[in-house]
Amino acid sequence: LDLKNTDLKKLADLGQGNGGSVEKVEHLPTGTIMAKKIVLIDAKSSVRKQILRELQIMHECHSEYIISCYGSFLAEPNICICMEFMDKGSFDGIYRKIGAIPIDVVCLVAHSVLEGLTYLYDVHRIIHRDIKPSNILLNSEGSIKLCDFGVSGELINSIANTFVGTSVYMSPERIQGAEYSIKSDIWSLGITLIELATGRFPFCDTLEDDDDLSDLDEDHESNFDNEKYNKTPTHPRTRLSKNINLQEDSLSSMSIIELMHQIVRSTFEEEAEEFVDACLVKDPDERHSPKHYWDSTFNLQGWTSTF
Ligand code: ADP
Ligand code: MG
Repeated sequence: LDLKNTDLKKLADLGQGNGGSVEKVEHLPTGTIMAKKIVLIDAKSSVRKQILRELQIMHECHSEYIISCYGSFLAEPNICICMEFMDKGSFDGIYRKIGAIPIDVVCLVAHSVLEGLTYLYDVHRIIHRDIKPSNILLNSEGSIKLCDFGVSGELINSIANTFVGTSVYMSPERIQGAEYSIKSDIWSLGITLIELATGRFPFCDTLEDDDDLSDLDEDHESNFDNEKYNKTPTHPRTRLSKNINLQEDSLSSMSIIELMHQIVRSTFEEEAEEFVDACLVKDPDERHSPKHYWDSTFNLQGWTSTF
C-alpha cells in the first residue's frame, strides 16, 4: 500500500505518548480505517531513511498477537506509521474506564502478550522493550495484540534524545544498565498485570513529591490518589533517577514488592499470583521466559461488548 498524508482523513485523536501522537484515520482510496502514529524525529535524513528501512520488519510480522502494519512514510519532520486500528483501545484506557480488569481477562492478556513476545523473538529476534498497558490493544472481536515494539534501533535512538522511555515498567537489570534480554519484558509484564488486575499503578507517584520510600506503606493504606498515579510522568528523566533509587535501596524496594503481593493476594487466584511472582524475580537468570502461560475458556468477545 502506497501511503501518503493526502489520502488519509483524520477521524479522531486516539492518544498521545512521550514519542508522539496517534490518530484514527480513514485511508480514502480503500476506505480502510487505520491508526496513524506520528513520531517527531530529531535526526538527519539518512537516519530517517534508515528508520524507514528498519520499520519494514513490521510488515513481515504476521501473528494474531501482533498489530499489523499497513506502511510507514516520512512527512517531515515526522515519521508516520499506519497500523491496524483496535476499536477498544489500549488496556490503560480500559481500566480507567471500567476499573480493575477481571482476572480471566488478565489471564488472557498474559497469554496474548507471551504469545506475541514469543513470536517476535522466535521468528524475528525482536525484543519488545516497552511492555505496558498502553501498548496492549483490544478489539471488539476479542483479540489482544501488542504494538510499539522495538523494531528500529535508530528510531529508539532518535526518540531517546528527547525522552528516556517508560522507566516505571523497567526491570532492575535494565535500570542498572545490564544486558537487556527478552526476560526484561517479562518483568514489565508482571508490573502490567498487577496494574490491570488492581486497576492502579503499583508504584505510585507519591515518589515524585516525597522520596522517602518508607512512607509508601502508609500512603497505600490510606488509598492512592487516583489523579496522581494515573497521570503521565511529565519528567521521564526525573522518574528514571527515582527508579534507580528504588532499585538501589533493596530493603525499600522489597517492601514495595511485598506491598504489591498484598494487593495481589486479595484479588488474584493462586495461579495468577504465582505467575506474577514468577515475573517479578529480580535475577533475570532465575526469571521465566515467555513460554509460560495457561489456557482459559473465558469469552473475551462477550466481555468487550459490556463497555
Ligand atoms: P503510549 O503508548 O505511551 O500511551 P502512544 O503514542 O504509543 O503512547 O499511543 C497513544 C495512545 O494511542 C495509546 O495509549 C493507545 O490508547 C492509542 N493507540 C495506539 N495505537 C493504537 C491502535 N493501533 N489502535 C487504537 N488505539 C491505539
Ligand atoms: Mg504506545
